Amino acid sequence: MRSRKKIYLSALAFVFLSSAYAQNASAQSARTAIRAARLIDGKGESIVSNAAILVENDKITAVGSGLQIPPDAKVIDLGDSTLLPGFIDAHTHLLSEMDGTNLTLQDVEMLRIVATQSTARRALLGAKLGREDLEAGITTVRDLGNSAVNGDVALRDAINNGWLPGPRIVAATRALAAQGGQFGRLTLEAQSIIEQEYVTIRGAESARQAVRQALYDGANCIKVIVNGSPANVTLDEMKAIVEEARAVGVKVAAHAIGDKATRIAAEAGVDSIEHAYIVKDDVLKMMADKHIFLVPTDGTLKTFLDMTFGTRQPSAEERSRMEKLYQPFVEGSRDRLRRARKMGVPIASGSDMYLTMPNLNRGQASLLVFEAYAEAGMTPMEIIHAATRNGAELLGMADRIGTVEAGKLADIIAVPGDPLKDVKALQHAKFVMKGGAVVKNEK
Ligand SMILES: [Zn+2]
Repeated sequence: MRSRKKIYLSALAFVFLSSAYAQNASAQSARTAIRAARLIDGKGESIVSNAAILVENDKITAVGSGLQIPPDAKVIDLGDSTLLPGFIDAHTHLLSEMDGTNLTLQDVEMLRIVATQSTARRALLGAKLGREDLEAGITTVRDLGNSAVNGDVALRDAINNGWLPGPRIVAATRALAAQGGQFGRLTLEAQSIIEQEYVTIRGAESARQAVRQALYDGANCIKVIVNGSPANVTLDEMKAIVEEARAVGVKVAAHAIGDKATRIAAEAGVDSIEHAYIVKDDVLKMMADKHIFLVPTDGTLKTFLDMTFGTRQPSAEERSRMEKLYQPFVEGSRDRLRRARKMGVPIASGSDMYLTMPNLNRGQASLLVFEAYAEAGMTPMEIIHAATRNGAELLGMADRIGTVEAGKLADIIAVPGDPLKDVKALQHAKFVMKGGAVVKNEK
């Protein structure tokens, strides 16, 4: 029995070694050259014409105009298109999907989801939405909670293991929040549900423990709901969280809306403030001084209306009523993005897309945020930088992703035409490569 087992094991070892060798051998000859009319490498303001990128295994080895293509390289010629670094969505929720036509009932919808959908089910939803993100050109996301109990970690690891296609995931695990999370006021019997979605913190020491718990659970970053419903995280707690995370080199993302919450987040020195739909100039100044990113999870009026009506055709009266309802919010968001840019606050693109959009999959819907940035006056190049190198810096991955340059991972997309002339081209990636592997190549 013993010797048979040994023979079996050594046979297995041989198979393993030979397949590892074969993989290595084929990887060594896997050289690809990607050519296109233009390249925006994400490093600066310039555009490279007649561009070529050489890719070997999972990395970029050379980039330039009229580059010498090695004879053994497989050539992918994308013609009149523009090459770009893969997009980074710095704020998403791949394990959450709510009905967009029911905006006013989000609290109830969240309760229903958490009470009826297991982590396993939500991770499988994440597998679908993650593939849609990747195919839209989003090669990396920061998944900021609302992913049940560490479902984002499971999805991240599955993608990293090559079990399924999806973007690189920087996972937050459960978001830290004051009592109640974002559920509103629940009965005592229902309160246990809160811990399925949030980690409740009660004081500075408890906040530190929650950070350690998140790291133990597999988090790559920490998400904090500063203004929850009903309770807020205090400055004391926020400072403890930042200190504890920083001690191990992990970044902190703060959901904060309104003067009190944005001020607490900025004073504590988080790495990014999410949403900040309402924020005063002196807080923006603090963010610029401390290099705290703003992640403006904005939408256009059209996005909100489309979401609300779904596939239904509203009456003219209903449409104008909803326009009046959303207009002040949309204008307020635009105004704060303009003020933030003027003050030099670094901007990273984030969709916060967890609601269904009619006729669009998750990836396509997530890129709608670019339209909101354009409406607020951001130039196409600024939008590209917000969605590539700025995101990479915020995620602590600037050494690997965010620009197209030698030594970085080959996360490369191509969009038709010139996105500097028509920013909407960014929503139509026809070629997507992640880590040197072609995900999509449409004619
Ligand atoms: Zn969010």
